[in-house]
Amino acid sequence: MGFDLNSIVGVVDEELVCPICSDVLEDPVQSSGCEHAFCRACIEKWMLEKQICPVDRSDLLRCHLVPASRLMRNMLSRLKIKCSFGDSGCLLHLRLEDYRLHVASCEYNPKVAVECSNGCGMKVPKDELAKHNCILELREMVKRQQGEIVDLKKAQGSLDLRIVTQRRELELLQYYVTALRSSNPMLRNIGEQLDRYSLMQWGNGLSLATVRNWGSLISTPDNPMHVAVRECLCSCGCPMNLVNLMVDRCHEEHWPDGLINLDVRRENFHRLPLYVTHLLPSLATGKQCVVVLGGDNTHMPENLRPVLGLVMIFVDGVEEVQQDPLPDNELA
Ligand SMILES: [Zn+2]
Ligand SMILES: [Zn+2]
Ligand SMILES: [Zn+2]
Ligand SMILES: [Zn+2]
Repeated sequence: MGFDLNSIVGVVDEELVCPICSDVLEDPVQSSGCEHAFCRACIEKWMLEKQICPVDRSDLLRCHLVPASRLMRNMLSRLKIKCSFGDSGCLLHLRLEDYRLHVASCEYNPKVAVECSNGCGMKVPKDELAKHNCILELREMVKRQQGEIVDLKKAQGSLDLRIVTQRRELELLQYYVTALRSSNPMLRNIGEQLDRYSLMQWGNGLSLATVRNWGSLISTPDNPMHVAVRECLCSCGCPMNLVNLMVDRCHEEHWPDGLINLDVRRENFHRLPLYVTHLLPSLATGKQCVVVLGGDNTHMPENLRPVLGLVMIFVDGVEEVQQDPLPDNELA
């Protein structure tokens, strides 16, 4: 609230003195009526109590306050003020607008934080450096952080609980939607489009895969393998409402006509490498897995094109396609 009058270098025009704090105006505003000028902070504090000008007692409302005139601001900008740590040795004369920032970081300011020289990494006000004790302070810090960790764990716990509840609600909702879809042809249509879209969204986030050994395809997985596929799909973000459907489709009986048994697969063997496949996490049993999505495979012949998608399990020979990394110069 105002710059100390006694620290100003030279004479100060009386117009530039705030009638409230009797120092040099800081961030000045004027009454548009009587034109008296005040520090913004001073008059705002004053007006919490009274709605009159402190000089001539004319009416003064918040809406009467305007920025100080250009003339006044020019006069203020010509003033120089001494650093308040002059006694300690700072001999700088500063423009008013630079004063606060300078004082806060002046090298003679005993409250300026400096890094402890004993290597604890803490910043300590200069004047407290002598009594600073690394071990004590660090112990305090550890205690504070342990408290924060406990709080975070509590918050995490209640979030986990909420997620479980919401997942249950979502599952209910899905049963409901499934029921609606089976009873209404228009909804069925929209639902299928949404399924296709959400599967493609999911697939785009998975790496592309190359199948090197189509001969190691497992086309009739047993029950435990179905369970493993389910876990695998859940772990990599498969849309929840499609997990069951996709699990069913890891078996040849749910595959398109061109894949439905070993004999027809043999006929189409040369076409299989044309599939665009995405890599899934390996099953708990170590078997490798890919997903083949309809949206990625519109180029395939009709009898090999999956409607929404299917999952294929392999004994071995599946690799992730390495994407070209960004050229170095684009990272620089
Ligand atoms: Zn003032
Ligand atoms: Zn006035
Ligand atoms: Zn200074
Ligand atoms: Zn220290």
